[in-house]
Amino acid sequence: MTRLKGKTALITGGSRGIGRAVALRFAQEGARVIVNYNRAGPAVDETLAALRAAAPRLDHAAVEADVGSEASITNMFARVLSGGGRLDILVNNAGIQAETPSEAFDDAALLRILNVNLIGAARCARAALAHFVSRPGGGNIINTSSVHEIIPKPGFLAYSMSKGGMGNLTKTLALEFAARGIRVNAVAPGAITTDMNLAWTGDAAAKASVESHIPMGYAASAEEIAPVFAFLASDEARYITGQTIYACGGLTLYGEFAKNWSS
Ligand code: NAP
Repeated sequence: MTRLKGKTALITGGSRGIGRAVALRFAQEGARVIVNYNRAGPAVDETLAALRAAAPRLDHAAVEADVGSEASITNMFARVLSGGGRLDILVNNAGIQAETPSEAFDDAALLRILNVNLIGAARCARAALAHFVSRPGGGNIINTSSVHEIIPKPGFLAYSMSKGGMGNLTKTLALEFAARGIRVNAVAPGAITTDMNLAWTGDAAAKASVESHIPMGYAASAEEIAPVFAFLASDEARYITGQTIYACGGLTLYGEFAKNWSS
């Protein structure tokens, strides 16, 4: 498929996990991909090598930036757009989480998660939107949300707040820019087997316990949900904006109701 031919995409947090899988899928579909990362290392080099192997004729790149920092984001967009560089698709994917009892959260830790997951996404959207409205052709933003956009996650207050906010960031920007050919949507994954979930992915019993809560019965790989991002980025989704698509194996379906217990 070449649904993204001629497009340039910037993917934050694109060096590992879901962002990496989306980057590779976009390249396979013909996009030139710029992966953002926070920490340099083998994951960045391997992702770039995989992109070049997937689509050798395209000038893929990697750009370092901490999306929790406004200055770092400004610098990243200056580099991405320097010399007449273009951008068609932004994927706000970088995300972190941490568990803390909510009666004792640390201010700096809470603000860090909000800055990376939500404020960083808004700042990256601001920079992309300024570019999109400065030239013909519109643009496309896809936010990586979570089932915790709508399902509370006790003990992970900052993460829940950030993903709840991601839903409204998506809808508000979608409405503000709908008439200008710019679409804004979100993908909300459920339990995906990335580094973020190392606490249970490497332990068969813990993984089985997680999967017992998923109506479809298993945690997906990042590669399994990457096509949802590609669809939203493509013209096949041209009449879709302001939507969150839940790629979660049914996690948002109130699994407890699979067998009647209430009447
Ligand atoms: P991951 O495997 O831990 O990868 C996170 C990515 O984000 C890495 O590339 C990391 O780069 C980057 N990143 C972290 N902090 C950053 C920062 N300050 N600036 C720039 N990049 C940064 O996580 P993942 O599971 O792929 O998660 C990706 C997104 O999906 C997140 O928004 C997460 O909330 C969401 N999500 C994940 C799941 C799941 O089950 N995995 C479920 C729902 C939603 P470095 O290596 O440079 O740190």
